[in-house]
Amino acid sequence: MVRHQSLVAPRISLTHRRLNPLEKMGRNERCWCLSGKKFKHCHLIRETLEPINAFEQEQRMFAELREGYCSLPKTDGENPCSSTITKAHTIQKRGGLDTIAESNHVLTVKPLMKDLIQSSGNPKPRKIGLNNASVFPGFCSKHDSETFKPIEGKSLNLDTQSAFLFSYRAVAYERFSKEAEGRFIAIMKEVADRGQPFWKQAAMQSLLYDVSFGVDLGKREINRVKESFDRLLLDDSYEGFHYFAIRFDQVLPVVACCAFQPEFDLTGVRLQQLGQDKVELDNITITVTPFEGNTIAVLGWIGPENGPARSLSNSFLSIEKARIADALIRLLFIHSDNIFLNPTWWDDLPERNKVALSNMTRSGTLARERTASEYTNTSLQLSSAAAIETVTG
Ligand SMILES: [Zn+2]
Ligand SMILES: [Zn+2]
Repeated sequence: MVRHQSLVAPRISLTHRRLNPLEKMGRNERCWCLSGKKFKHCHLIRETLEPINAFEQEQRMFAELREGYCSLPKTDGENPCSSTITKAHTIQKRGGLDTIAESNHVLTVKPLMKDLIQSSGNPKPRKIGLNNASVFPGFCSKHDSETFKPIEGKSLNLDTQSAFLFSYRAVAYERFSKEAEGRFIAIMKEVADRGQPFWKQAAMQSLLYDVSFGVDLGKREINRVKESFDRLLLDDSYEGFHYFAIRFDQVLPVVACCAFQPEFDLTGVRLQQLGQDKVELDNITITVTPFEGNTIAVLGWIGPENGPARSLSNSFLSIEKARIADALIRLLFIHSDNIFLNPTWWDDLPERNKVALSNMTRSGTLARERTASEYTNTSLQLSSAAAIETVTG
């Protein structure tokens, strides 16, 4: 494989774009927080405002995540949206999610604020009901059922059309999440430091500034990917779409639906370097769902035939068939929080495996970069499933 351009391009430096918080400014000058407002309407009075606590912040985040719209590309007049935005499952509920559920519940790795606080930042996966697991308000009900009919039924062909639809839904989900995150950060800039002294305002605004820089970059990136998927959907063509699918001999204890930029392959080779300004990065989607007593994993992408996404999927083939499921589960914990777990499976894992997986869910942040060793950590025995079929398209 040719070395990806991002591995030789200069990395974006966050350090040369820092906020410059100022305790004193002219009342009519634009505020140092870059809100665009005059100082007198912005940080001059921030300390006098009623503070907002962590739970109220969390409620604001949930409110943004409930703010739905249809993700299908708009076409003039043809096939308009229906009036209701549905809670679309990113992983089919019947025959999918419910296969790994117990008493109608699965576990999610997305913590609640109270769990984060009570566990001093080390929350355990928590129970979530099937109707709320993996859902996002990202399609109108008509387009949700119309678009995904070929992959929602009782039978499924692991062909290009199915793979494309799995990928499309993953991309729509990631676009929705990134966008909701962007809206939430914008709100936090206005409310998170209310009632705080200047030094705290400065620290919180600087952190939010750094975070929003990353979120904006991610938003631009996923919008670009979404547009290329939209084009193929509208043209009813799969030109330039590639996929790789795996079928296992049993149901895996994990389901997932996500899109991300692969950094390493499963042997630890670095594929691309994130945080690039001018280089387009390869994105890949992964959907993992039970189907008729087996689990299938579908990886899909639009882009170069022999880029980082293909290298990642090819690296599955270099792994022993009985260890492919372990590698897949590691990859999901590293890259996605839209993963759901069978409760008994998680409860029965040895403590060291739980710790290792929990750490993986927290990598890839400002605080902790991802490492090759997470991708290659074969010491974790996670599933006894074996891969019985792979399809390359
Ligand atoms: Zn301000
Ligand atoms: Zn619609």
